[in-house]
Amino acid sequence: MDSAEFRRAAHQMVEYIIEYMENIKNRQVLPSIEPGYIRTLLPGEAPENPEKWENILGDIERVIMPGVTHWHSPHFHAYYPTGNSWPSLLADMLSDAIGCIGFTWMASPACTELETLMMDWLGKLLDLPKCFLSEESEGVGGGVIQTTASEATLVCMLAAKTKTIQKYRALEPQWKESEILERLIVYGSDQAHSSVERAALLAGVKYRSLQSNREYSLEGNAVKQAIKKDRDEGLIPFFVIVTLGTTPSCAFDKLDEIGSVCEEEEIWIHVDAAYAGSAFICPEYRHHLNGINLADSFNFNPHKWLMVHFDCSALWLKNSKDLVDAFNIDPVYLRHDKQSKTLDYRHWQIPLGRRFRSLKLWFVLRIYGAEGLRKHIRKQCNLAKAFSDLVHSDDRFEIPVQSQLGLVCFRLKGDNELSKELLKRINERKKIHLVPSVLRGIYVIRFAVCSRLTEIEHVEFAWNEIRECV
Ligand code: PLP
Repeated sequence: MDSAEFRRAAHQMVEYIIEYMENIKNRQVLPSIEPGYIRTLLPGEAPENPEKWENILGDIERVIMPGVTHWHSPHFHAYYPTGNSWPSLLADMLSDAIGCIGFTWMASPACTELETLMMDWLGKLLDLPKCFLSEESEGVGGGVIQTTASEATLVCMLAAKTKTIQKYRALEPQWKESEILERLIVYGSDQAHSSVERAALLAGVKYRSLQSNREYSLEGNAVKQAIKKDRDEGLIPFFVIVTLGTTPSCAFDKLDEIGSVCEEEEIWIHVDAAYAGSAFICPEYRHHLNGINLADSFNFNPHKWLMVHFDCSALWLKNSKDLVDAFNIDPVYLRHDKQSKTLDYRHWQIPLGRRFRSLKLWFVLRIYGAEGLRKHIRKQCNLAKAFSDLVHSDDRFEIPVQSQLGLVCFRLKGDNELSKELLKRINERKKIHLVPSVLRGIYVIRFAVCSRLTEIEHVEFAWNEIRECV
């Protein structure tokens, strides 16, 4: 393909994408194919001879679309949202064209510098304490874009682990590293995302899941008691995950309480606000961040709810040196003569390679402005409220946990089996898509406002569909 052919193909692709997004509501949100379908449609080997672009374009509808779950359909209400917008798409096109691998400042200065600045812009929009901002903390704190919230948790846990091992090597010189390692323990609530326990597995440390309160929120006392008990048994607590906006029900852990406990105990607090973090650009939701000054790291996914495409997971650290010290391997071929004057993001993450992801933030923040993004968040929260009003209007249903932001957890009154059967029927009809969660034995159906294209008529459509399935 040469540039003239690319121009023609790119125009066709853009037209295809526009048509896809404009008519996505008419597509069946869940696919009807069976596992293995793609092997029935495509050859088992790569083509020996070049093919025409037109054939590939034609195969998108024939081969790919039948197997796509349409996450951006206004009828998609499963999981949590994933971002999508025209400016973000444009930025990813440019990022792919530049195609740099910005592991050091020298490997592409714009990639590093725009990221540092965008993380400051975003941090200021959330009103994060100055210690998390690169400019305000003179580079001690700062932000980095990770691939996912799971990776952000793992990176911070590994940094905290290294820091703790170093501390205990100095405190207890008679202990071998393996003796320190087997004592290390981290905590999260019983509502924390599965990626937290997985990070502990990958880090090779013990994990204790702590009971949340009646509102599914983890309290300072539960953390305090667990730490005391574990210390009495000779363990070394070193890391606590605070979830703001849990996956099952969007509950908020008590960051301020847990913060005070961990400050006293010198334990790293990592805040996982993967979904809810976007809402903190609105002052009315920022109270959930009370105590953020006590956290060591804070993460949320603009790629979930801020109209930025996957992948863009924003992580801030109070002391970036903790990461750099933990992951600093310095081969000659990666060094450059400006490294004392700038930062190299390769030390802040697990992989070496990294895409030019900050372009997405830059384009989106400029096209919508902070006010446009707040409008988006507020609109989606209002749509969730409209859905919960509909549920309340039908006394066969109940909402057993307080609805938060764009999520409503509802169920049919009575036995769990009734709601399980209902959800099965809903998803079998494939007109809308919802997923369940289980809250201390109570089976609920999660209704999340996901697509930026969702309007009140789609919420009403979903509600009618749900009632037809009862
Ligand atoms: N943490 C929470 C609270 C989540 O809700 C999710 C996903 O929905 C994750 C972490 C995982 O996010 P990621 O896919 O970015 O790892």
